[in-house]
Amino acid sequence: MYPVMLSLRGRRCLVVGGGGVALRKVEGLVAEGAQVTVVAPGPMEALTKLAAAGEISLDRRHYQSPEAGQFALAFAATDDREVNRTVFRDAEAANVWANVADDPELCSFHLPARVQRGSLQLAVASAGEAPFVVRRIRQLFERRFGPEWGEWLAAAARFREAVLELGAERAEREQRFDAFFGATVDPQRLTARVPSAAEEAHLLSGPQPAIHPPGVFPKIESVPPAERGGGEGGKRLGFVSLVGAGPGDAGLLTIKGRQRMLGADAVVCDRLALTALPCDLPARVALHGVGKEAGHHPVRQEEIGALLVRLARQGKRVVRFKGGDPYVFGRGGEEAEVLARAQIPFEVVPGVTAGVSVPAYAGIPVTHRREAVRVTMVTAHEAAKATGHQVRWDLLGADPHATLLGYMGVTTLPSVVAKLLAAGLSPDTPAAMVQRGTTSAQRVVISTIEQLPQAVADAGIGPPALFVIGPTVRHAAELDWFGSRPLFGHRLVMVSPVGPLGERLELQGVEVVPVPLPVTPSARLVMDALPLTGCVLQNANEVEAFDEERDGVGWSPEVVAWCVGHDTAERARQLGWTKVVEVAEPAEAEALVALLGERL
Ligand code: SAH
Repeated sequence: MYPVMLSLRGRRCLVVGGGGVALRKVEGLVAEGAQVTVVAPGPMEALTKLAAAGEISLDRRHYQSPEAGQFALAFAATDDREVNRTVFRDAEAANVWANVADDPELCSFHLPARVQRGSLQLAVASAGEAPFVVRRIRQLFERRFGPEWGEWLAAAARFREAVLELGAERAEREQRFDAFFGATVDPQRLTARVPSAAEEAHLLSGPQPAIHPPGVFPKIESVPPAERGGGEGGKRLGFVSLVGAGPGDAGLLTIKGRQRMLGADAVVCDRLALTALPCDLPARVALHGVGKEAGHHPVRQEEIGALLVRLARQGKRVVRFKGGDPYVFGRGGEEAEVLARAQIPFEVVPGVTAGVSVPAYAGIPVTHRREAVRVTMVTAHEAAKATGHQVRWDLLGADPHATLLGYMGVTTLPSVVAKLLAAGLSPDTPAAMVQRGTTSAQRVVISTIEQLPQAVADAGIGPPALFVIGPTVRHAAELDWFGSRPLFGHRLVMVSPVGPLGERLELQGVEVVPVPLPVTPSARLVMDALPLTGCVLQNANEVEAFDEERDGVGWSPEVVAWCVGHDTAERARQLGWTKVVEVAEPAEAEALVALLGERL
């Protein structure tokens, strides 16, 4: 197989077939400026729309042999193998390149899987021998190559033009290209960045091009003051919003927080905040994950501060996205100090802290008339330390009409409980531990304070979890509005906008992950943030779009594909989905909710 990139502008291309697979081919061809003719007796609506908009010519009829011979490229994607074969033979006879979907024998060329970042394209192929590998490698690249590569390529193209204009010798040109690459690409992490105007000028004009060893980024201090977001020379001033993501339920992000996210150039995100990341974040927003991840070391606090400063000094609008509220046990105060000292303008967009929201979702009001007249939020982490400012557990234990909200208190729970009991708190005081509150993974353990450590250990509860100690915990069973919803615990992907069906499902207790098509990088992070249980698919197109996503860590073979209509289910089975449930068309919200209720 010999790889080429074809220029299709103005070329006549034939697509035989009118379903989802044909549509995808058509869209790809139209995007490259090809002159597309579709032949199909019963084309799907999306194709008739493209025809009505003048994007393609659509012939509503059967394929007429040997018309494929009159085109530059021919595609066949019908479910009739005879028709596909005829198209292929006609094309072969006329020396026209032909491709039959899912039929390697009837292909004179294959389409590689590709990852596109602006004009940068990575194509992956296996000569048809192991298509499953291709999909996985594509996905790997899709995840590893961030959206910044598109911008970077545009900058590289500009840089090349500028170097050519200098009229230098070839060796010197190559040296400058090396310098550009070395200064802007981190080969270990596969990240790239657009150099600032001053850096670019430096790379162009220096008598000796500055060559950084590969992967070593020039330090921010080397950037001249005018570049540092000081507002001089008409440069845009960088700005940082410290935004609280809320406790996990994406609906608990504030309106202002969402606005800042959608308008940002870069988002620096904690792991705990991932479920609240807007799935419709434009792909141009650069995402930086700094949370703890299995197998990865968390980014150190100083590095987070330095990253915020660096991004802001590039003139960017930056969102620091933190779980709960940024100033409640989130080290937001320290980050704000770093910004203030670097003279970078910032704001705080408070979030719903776990302390008040997680108990509410577990059926616990944190205050209650005559029962609890004081609320204390405390970091239980401190209990592990022998020195420094210690929590006065003795004072907290002495107040029976109070609610105690303990953050970061799973491992230290036994010692905290011992201290509170020693201070005189009644061993019968109701107490709860709530893990991943407000999400589909929420788990609640209710007990007395004395029994709580054992109950938590028995249930295998681990962080992130919050403990609640105080008389109001006794209301939890009666006020359990969230965990008792019939479909609680389910986490379903749906194509956004989710419409009335999405809302109905949510009220039944489903955590709906609304994913736009094409799938955005932020939606991928959200899908992977917690295990998914299902995916609602309305047509074959959606099946194909999500088929590309199924290797994400949120997806397991247990994820059920709820397919609306026979064709949708058929496509899912063809692509090897194992748990396929067919839902009759049209899927009325009520009917689907009822079905899910029965089957889940
Ligand atoms: N700034 C955050 C707290 C950060 S400290 C806020 O305002 O909520 C992290 C601790 O918060 C966790 O160890 C846990 O105790 C608590 N926490 C955060 N989200 C939680 C959730 N969804 N469920 C239970 N506890 C949570």
